[in-house]
Amino acid sequence: MFTSLRARLWLSYLLVSGLVLAVITAALLLYLVRNPRLAREAETNLATAANTLQRQGIPQGDRQELASYAQNADALLDMRVALITVQGEVMADSRADEGELPTLDHLLSRGPGAGGQGQGTGRIAEYTDANGQEWLFARRVLSSRFILLVATPRPTAPVLAVFTDELFQPIMQAALLALGLSLLLAFMIARWIAAPLQGITDASRSLGEGRMSQIEPRGPREVQDLAQAFNQMSSQVHASRQSQRDFVANVSHELKTPITSIQGFAQAILDGTAKGGESLSQAAQVIYNEAGRMHRLVLDLLDLARLDAGNVQLEYRAIDMGQLLYEVGERFVPQAKEAEVTLTNQVEEVPSISGDYDRLVQVFSNLVENALKFTPAGGEVRLSARRANGALLATVSDTGPGIHPEEAARIFERFYQVDKSRSGGRGRGAGLGLPIAQQIVQAHGGEIRVESQPGRGSAFVVRLPLSPST
Ligand code: ADP
Repeated sequence: MFTSLRARLWLSYLLVSGLVLAVITAALLLYLVRNPRLAREAETNLATAANTLQRQGIPQGDRQELASYAQNADALLDMRVALITVQGEVMADSRADEGELPTLDHLLSRGPGAGGQGQGTGRIAEYTDANGQEWLFARRVLSSRFILLVATPRPTAPVLAVFTDELFQPIMQAALLALGLSLLLAFMIARWIAAPLQGITDASRSLGEGRMSQIEPRGPREVQDLAQAFNQMSSQVHASRQSQRDFVANVSHELKTPITSIQGFAQAILDGTAKGGESLSQAAQVIYNEAGRMHRLVLDLLDLARLDAGNVQLEYRAIDMGQLLYEVGERFVPQAKEAEVTLTNQVEEVPSISGDYDRLVQVFSNLVENALKFTPAGGEVRLSARRANGALLATVSDTGPGIHPEEAARIFERFYQVDKSRSGGRGRGAGLGLPIAQQIVQAHGGEIRVESQPGRGSAFVVRLPLSPST
């Protein structure tokens, strides 16, 4: 019950309007009970009566005469009239049977509400007698002997009657109006919030079912933010699904070629097509090479998976980059000779950096291997390192075919090869070397980029942060 947004909104509006109506009703009732208008009238009448009696003066005479004066005045004015001596003795009281008079102190007090001596209207005071009856009174001191007191009970309105006759109906009308308005408002606001939320719910369901969906942000700002966050998430989920699919397709493709050729040559050996010393050893060589390629691919995939998962613990130590590049260069001397490419090392005096030696050797070996692979005979591959802007820049440049800018942006993607047929030459790869190198450099807090122009060679620049002490 009341679990929907609409019902809760309606309930809260209803509660607020009910509360406001209750406060208004209570204030009205209080006003009726106090009824200042009635009281003001009575106060004016009291002041007028007291002034009139004061002007007329009181007769000289005994108690009897004073009592009948008070009775007559009462009958005329319909007000309690009393005469009290300044010592406090009550000489006459037209309504002695209706409770006691205020005390002398109260009568003489000049505090708020007490009547001022000889004042035109005088101020009106009030007191409550022993029966609980509230009185309003005015008083005048006459010829320094008597205090004239004119009193009347505080007028009260018949609250319940006034309430039922005059107030009940408008209050009920207001309540009905509030009910209708709160229903309408709750409906409209709930629609404003719930409709776009429903859209997000539907889109989430279809995303769960594998369909990518984008939603138009609408409704309150918070819901729009949610829709935008959802769209972002949806694109990411889509991209990651796509890359998963691409990954599986690429791995299958990369495995299919060597497996097909292994199968073909094994078949040739089995059915005797490849017989005789040379063709048999050729077939065995192809099987061996392709198996080696598959092995390298699987090792690369495992390496990438570990780097992705952050499972690779880098063993940091101080590295002399000049030494590292020299060692990498030395390893490739035979290959460079075979490819008739000049391999030069141009390392300046550079500060040491902190890093994992073997992993960085892996990065630069991959770069040099690629450079040698793509540089034609007579070309040059150069290794260099220098310090720049608080970092160390190590570069492997070549005089190979270069890379087109559009492709340069993609060569760090997994399995991306600029020209599959071209890379099929010496030491064919699977397009995983640069992504692995990038992961390793990034794990060192550095970055790798390529600067290249087609036909004018390429330079792979690795930027590594210097150790904090240098
Ligand atoms: P592979 O193992 O196939 O070489 P890489 O990730 O190392 O994969 O390289 C991706 C692609 O980038 C290569 O297929 C090649 O087309 C291009 N590439 C890499 N290095 C060079 C280079 N020095 N000169 C020209 N192209 C290069």
